[in-house]
Amino acid sequence: MKEIIYIIDNSGSTVTFISPIIEKLLSITTKEFKMTFLSTQNKGGYLYKKRSQIISKRSAFITDCLGRGFEDPLKIEYQIINGKGECRWIRETLNPQFKADGSIGAFAGRIEDITEWKTTEQQLTDLYQNEASLRHELETQIQNRIEFTRALVHELKTPLTPIMAASDTLSSGLKQEPWLNLAQNINKGAFNLNKRIDELLDLTRGEIGVLQIKKIPIDCIELSADIIQYIDAKLRKANLRLVFEHDENTIFIEADPDRLRQVLLNLLSNAIKYTPGSGLIKIKCFRTSTDVVFQIIDSGIGISSSDMAYLFEPYHRLERDRERFDGMGLGLALSKRFVELHGGRIWVENANEHGSIFTFTIPTLTPVKPEHLKLGYKNKRKSYEAAVN
Ligand code: ADP
Repeated sequence: MKEIIYIIDNSGSTVTFISPIIEKLLSITTKEFKMTFLSTQNKGGYLYKKRSQIISKRSAFITDCLGRGFEDPLKIEYQIINGKGECRWIRETLNPQFKADGSIGAFAGRIEDITEWKTTEQQLTDLYQNEASLRHELETQIQNRIEFTRALVHELKTPLTPIMAASDTLSSGLKQEPWLNLAQNINKGAFNLNKRIDELLDLTRGEIGVLQIKKIPIDCIELSADIIQYIDAKLRKANLRLVFEHDENTIFIEADPDRLRQVLLNLLSNAIKYTPGSGLIKIKCFRTSTDVVFQIIDSGIGISSSDMAYLFEPYHRLERDRERFDGMGLGLALSKRFVELHGGRIWVENANEHGSIFTFTIPTLTPVKPEHLKLGYKNKRKSYEAAVN
């Protein structure tokens, strides 16, 4: 930035020097500058905006310097209209110049055209303000969304709870068809609806980044065996065979048991849903040097390669399944979120002949502490076979 130097005499009333470069930089002649710089009267030449304020600030500084001796330099920023009629931002710095005897001999000043710098500064301020207001708006929207989903979930679950409880009691009390079947249908429908509501809540939490996991040491083999037991009736009803393969009796990792259970249940429920009767489902659990790997392999209807890319996106359901199967297309999207929250990966491949292989990994980077291994886990079996028809 080029500077323009000027000198004011020791009384502070006359400009005795001005750099000729002012003509090039501000299109004001040295004569015009000398006549108008300190004058509260003249309208042309060095055309200040807020002229009287700036001139009185400068003259107060000069008076202080003359009265009290040394002062900190005067630094002021203001706008002028240059000789071409353009508005320019000016930064002016003024210092007293001392003679050998310590008295003030003159005042030396510097004028810089800081218009570009000011424009950039203003743009940055505008950008910052814009960003701050957008952030505020987004935070409000997120908060509203949380509140709305919470209220919605509450509204939906309140009437559902007695339906689940009553239909459960009815199903166990009734012996006679068709009433038993009807009660079981109500119960199944209510439980499905409850699951969908939970999925919606999890999805919203995931989208707004408040989905969290609580890791504790768990035995993957025991957890898988528990889930297999839980879905045993479903397997029998669907006339499916399930084989659980694992090389080790216990595989401990640090993970969130509820979320891991949810992932396994989602994948197993899909395998059951999309595998016709007499089919086979396999669960494999093994360890690599960095991860625990889970695989759910079915002999079902499979998935085309073009569909695989979108399968883990929320609400994505295959065209062919929309009419035939219930669901909202959230199970895989949520499973992906849960696996990724653990630092793992999830993907799908086609099985050799027919069916699909869903694989997910959970990293074992955090070693499980030995004291946690004394928790007394049960179900340490080498191979678990359920629902053999
Ligand atoms: P949904 O609740 O609709 O099953 P998911 O996210 O779990 O939602 O699955 C998305 C879609 O992926 C399903 O609608 C189905 O078309 C397909 N899909 C999932 N798992 C399988 C599988 N094991 N075999 C065939 N298709 C599957």
